[in-house]
Amino acid sequence: MRCRACRELLELSEVEPVHGESDGVAVELYGLRLGRCGVENHPPEPPFPDFAADLVAAVTQGDALPTARQRGWRRSRTLCAGCVQGLESSTGEGEVRARVRVERAASLTVTVRGPCLECPACRTCQLPGTPEHRSALTAALLAALGASGLVVE
Ligand SMILES: [Zn+2]
Ligand SMILES: [Zn+2]
Repeated sequence: MRCRACRELLELSEVEPVHGESDGVAVELYGLRLGRCGVENHPPEPPFPDFAADLVAAVTQGDALPTARQRGWRRSRTLCAGCVQGLESSTGEGEVRARVRVERAASLTVTVRGPCLECPACRTCQLPGTPEHRSALTAALLAALGASGLVVE
């Protein structure tokens, strides 16, 4: 892997925490490791070409972050991720934080702030898991990756 600007070999190193947000959902990425050549303003490269897509999938579709499950006709029932208690679908605000593993890359810590559901039984604070929330979360993640200097299509 070489720098696009100077063709020097890149070394993976941890970058400063990055922030992104979209539609009331804010994310922070800690421990993101990108390929850098060492020159300040040269663009970083992802650890592998599909990294952005894999990170988005790990955060929005994996089990890493507690996410309420939508069930039933037109997803009319919302169930707790932790104890399968039924939840009110109205949301409060909160923060969910977890270590996320992306295959072929170092794991990183992801914080998501915005709409959250708190289970009255087990007190787990969790993401709503609705299609709208997932798409806002995806956009926020891409914005955070863009803030790191990565070119994200
Ligand atoms: Zn360079
Ligand atoms: Zn619960």
